[in-house]
Amino acid sequence: MKFITALKTALGMAPGCEQVNEFLAEYVEGTLDEKMRAQFQEHMDMCKCCDHYLDQYRHTIQLTKETDEISVPSELAEHTLAFLRKSNAFASDQDAASS
Ligand SMILES: [Zn+2]
Repeated sequence: MKFITALKTALGMAPGCEQVNEFLAEYVEGTLDEKMRAQFQEHMDMCKCCDHYLDQYRHTIQLTKETDEISVPSELAEHTLAFLRKSNAFASDQDAASS
C-alpha cells in the first residue's frame, strides 16, 4: 500500500509534501473534507518528515494557545524554510521551462 501511495504521489495523483503542507492547518482545524483527510493521513503514514512536521505543528498550536504568543520552534521554521526553498526551486524551474 505504501508503495502505491508513493507511486501515486510521484504521478501527482496523491498529495505530495507541498500539498500536505498547504492543508495542514485545515487538517488540524478539522475543516478538511473527508477525501482530502484520507489522502492526508495516507501521506502521513508514508512520509516521516510530514508526520514529524504535523507533530511539531500541533505542538506549536498547543503552545500558542497556552502562552498566547506566537513562537515557532526553530526546527519547524527550518523545515518550513527548506520546504519553501524547494517549492521556489520547483516554481522557478517551471517558469524557466514555460518562458
Ligand atoms: Zn511528506
